[in-house]
Amino acid sequence: MEQKFDVIVVGGGASGLAAAIEASRGGASVLVLEKNHVAGRKILSTGAGKCNFSNVRVTPAAYHPPSASFLKRTFAALPPGEVARFFGGLGLLSVEGEDGRLFPRSMKAQDVVSALDNELGARGVQVRALTEVTAVRRDAAGFLLEASQARPKWQKAAPKSEKLSFRASRVILACGGPCYPQIGGTSAGYGLLRGLGHSVSPLSPAIVPLKTRETFVKDLDGVRVQAALFLTGGGRTLGETKGELLFTAYGVSGPGPLDLSRAAAEALRKGPVHLTADLFPEYGPAEFFALLECRTKTFAARPFTHFTCGLTNEKVCRAAARLAGINEAMSAGIVPARALRAFAEVLKGLRVEITGTLGFEDAMVTAGGCDLGEIDPVTFGSKKVPGLHVTGELLDLDGNSGGFNLHLAWTSGILAGRAAAQK
Ligand SMILES: Cc1cc2nc3c(=O)[nH]c(=O)nc-3n(C[C@H](O)[C@H](O)[C@H](O)COP(=O)(O)OP(=O)(O)OC[C@H]3O[C@@H](n4cnc5c(N)ncnc54)[C@H](O)[C@@H]3O)c2cc1C
Repeated sequence: MEQKFDVIVVGGGASGLAAAIEASRGGASVLVLEKNHVAGRKILSTGAGKCNFSNVRVTPAAYHPPSASFLKRTFAALPPGEVARFFGGLGLLSVEGEDGRLFPRSMKAQDVVSALDNELGARGVQVRALTEVTAVRRDAAGFLLEASQARPKWQKAAPKSEKLSFRASRVILACGGPCYPQIGGTSAGYGLLRGLGHSVSPLSPAIVPLKTRETFVKDLDGVRVQAALFLTGGGRTLGETKGELLFTAYGVSGPGPLDLSRAAAEALRKGPVHLTADLFPEYGPAEFFALLECRTKTFAARPFTHFTCGLTNEKVCRAAARLAGINEAMSAGIVPARALRAFAEVLKGLRVEITGTLGFEDAMVTAGGCDLGEIDPVTFGSKKVPGLHVTGELLDLDGNSGGFNLHLAWTSGILAGRAAAQK
């Protein structure tokens, strides 16, 4: 005999836990089924462990593909400020960081998960871990869910394949996407959606590091600099941002490149794409060259490394000197004006060719997913399957970095949970 609930939430991640709380507050009996050994595992890794859980500047423009009319209705139903209030109600104090990013005041993602867990526990909501839903079927009596016992990572042998089944009047699919499979990311939820008759657009990694053709980046692996970044392709500027640029063995990462990665991936389908980093955006080109000229006089008799010391990261200066054809062994005073100009140009416009992105293993969010035309923007209810709701990353909706993706997860979860609690 299957256990029967008013609402079953498939996936105990950001949107699923918010949905379970709201459905329970609405008076429904709720069960959360989670395949990981604990719920909320991905939340712990967000914002480098600090959880950038929302942003004070949430608008439809922060999301892709352009879905203004859908999100206008969503944000009218749950104004963006309500997300911070939802967490305030769970006892979580928050602080605003750079660019309107919201974090828990403790700067600990664990506190976000604990606040959600505490509320679920206090409300008596069952969260069944290590339970992977393998099929969801709609019949005259509601939904039948089939599941199997999932194997914890540390257990080598597979558990006895115990088949489990559950019944629910309403189901909230909150399985997330395939990013970071090492902490439970999976594309299984899209399979469940397709099985229920939903259309799923092609999936690709977004907010993801970029690979470059140039190999000098390898020498700079681990170096972080602040820069103004410009993405170009097909003779156009495709995007620009200011922020941290992290060099890696394969290319570039950090908040700046991650922000531009979606535009880069799209443009790469049409032709070559370049990223140009201005490491001294506060200086105009002539002003910067004058600064360097002046330094060659100050350090005329000294080695070139004395001339570069204090400009920017030493390894970056070395790489720029090599690119400009400057022999570091020469003293600053005898560097030819042409080479000095080339050095200035490299630091004001370090240009690399983007050859691709890393995969889902390194991406923070999934582009593509459940067709928004099949989903109600206020209840996140399916227009195809009565009683089914779809939330978070499963939707064909992804946000910029800065707390927008978690914001969407909480928002869709809260609205779906409220609607699913209605008989
Ligand atoms: C490293 C990293 C850092 C990030 N940092 C930020 C950030 O700071 N700010 C921000 O806004 N966004 C951030 N994101 C994105 C954000 O984490 C996601 O957008 C968000 O978690 C999506 O919520 P979700 O509920 O859709 O899915 P998830 O939070 O991924 O939850 C889905 C859950 O469903 C479970 N599940 C899947 N399939 C099944 C199944 N068949 N049966 C049972 N359970 C299942 C999974 O195990 C998982 O626990 C980050 C992502 C990553 C990977």
